[in-house]
Amino acid sequence: MKGFESVIGLEIHAQLLTRSKLFCGCGTGFGAEPNTQVCPVCLGLPGALPVLNRRAVELAVLVGEALHAHTNTSSVFARKNYFYPDLPKNYQISQFDRPLCSGGHLYVSDGGKRRRVRVTRVHLEEDAGKSVHLDDAGGRRTLVDFNRCGVPLIEIVTEPELRSPSEAHALLKALKQILEYTGASSGNMEEGGLRCDVNVSLRRVGERALGSKTEIKNLNSFRNVERALEYEIERQAGLLAGGTAVLNETLMWDAGRDRAVSMRSKEEAHDYRYFPEPDLLRLELKGDWIDDVKSRLPELPEARESRFVESLGLPPYDAAVLCGRRALADYFEEVARLTGEPKSASNWIMTEVLRTAKEGATDEFPVTAANLADLLTLVRSGRISGKMAKDVFARMAGTGETADDAVSRMGLRQVTDVREMRTIVDAVLSENPKSVADYARGKKKLFGFLMGRIMEKTAGQASPTLAESVLRERLEGVREGDANT
Ligand SMILES: [Zn+2]
Repeated sequence: MKGFESVIGLEIHAQLLTRSKLFCGCGTGFGAEPNTQVCPVCLGLPGALPVLNRRAVELAVLVGEALHAHTNTSSVFARKNYFYPDLPKNYQISQFDRPLCSGGHLYVSDGGKRRRVRVTRVHLEEDAGKSVHLDDAGGRRTLVDFNRCGVPLIEIVTEPELRSPSEAHALLKALKQILEYTGASSGNMEEGGLRCDVNVSLRRVGERALGSKTEIKNLNSFRNVERALEYEIERQAGLLAGGTAVLNETLMWDAGRDRAVSMRSKEEAHDYRYFPEPDLLRLELKGDWIDDVKSRLPELPEARESRFVESLGLPPYDAAVLCGRRALADYFEEVARLTGEPKSASNWIMTEVLRTAKEGATDEFPVTAANLADLLTLVRSGRISGKMAKDVFARMAGTGETADDAVSRMGLRQVTDVREMRTIVDAVLSENPKSVADYARGKKKLFGFLMGRIMEKTAGQASPTLAESVLRERLEGVREGDANT
């Protein structure tokens, strides 16, 4: 690797969150019975004609705008011809020389450095079906599920401007956040909602020309993207160092064996015989319509993160964690708004809430924002201590009760009334006459013992500060022979 630098580009496919497919009315739900979400259009039966899904175009434009790309008022669908068992038409409807959005960029933070990485294009295309390989009692068989055929995808292509596997990881993470914030895609890699192909080449440091590159497909986790790039960079460096040329080829990542295997020599665009899709009109978008979509762009992760730091006074680390998911940032803002205390809202969410939510790992929070806000208000008013609040929170998370209900069911409340505290302290003192007398004779460490008795008597509900000051007041009184204040 010494003397070389890596040049990495990403090609990301994200499923759009539409209810129906890109060119037909079939549903897009994940996990349905095989071949139940199909029709003549997505099965490519003769005579069936595609009709473009407006919502898919809106979502794609939204992502393009979020990536600062230019939305083209005129774009063209093209047929990408290739045979694959899960592609019944033998071509995929995609976009080629006239994509929906061109140019654009996003920011990537890696190792404390923030860099702008250019986006080449964002275009719409349809997904293919899925082959299911079985090796069971019926022997080795391959079944085909066409449910995914025609599900809308956007393809986002970056310029080859990334320099390291960790930067590629950071870009994917930033992009996933944008997809999730815009509501365009779940960005869920495990369910195939987000897929990534990478291309990588090496060149000598200082050289401008690009070396020959390989493409790695089938990367279904952030970890695999990073690992596959590390593997391939090392492999290419080994070849180049030994004076062997790197072949232009497509590799498949085998996560099980932690290595990339050759699939085929790299195909070129002309291999696909792209031509304009004759069954669809050119996609013409009006400027007003594009502006309208643009106006629905939410506050994006980067902007939100800076606002949390600058206006709400959160530490940058907290802001980054909270803005990691839109639902989490929304949840935090609601608690902060209801309590007027962003910092304590953030502290609670960063600890108790995330710890409890992690087990479920969804966007459902263990306690609603309103209930959490009420709990924080109880702490601030001194009705319960911060320590009690953690137990109350655990109960609320388990039962769904409001803070008030949980506190009263648990019989909790903090004794903060000075007169009530004096009664309790007096009772403890009269139950322990010997300790009081010993204390008066100078055994000062009995103070701690008496504090313990007070906490025991109140089942931990005494405000420690108040208990301490009343006990001191009473004991000093004992010493001065003035017990009856
Ligand atoms: Zn269909």
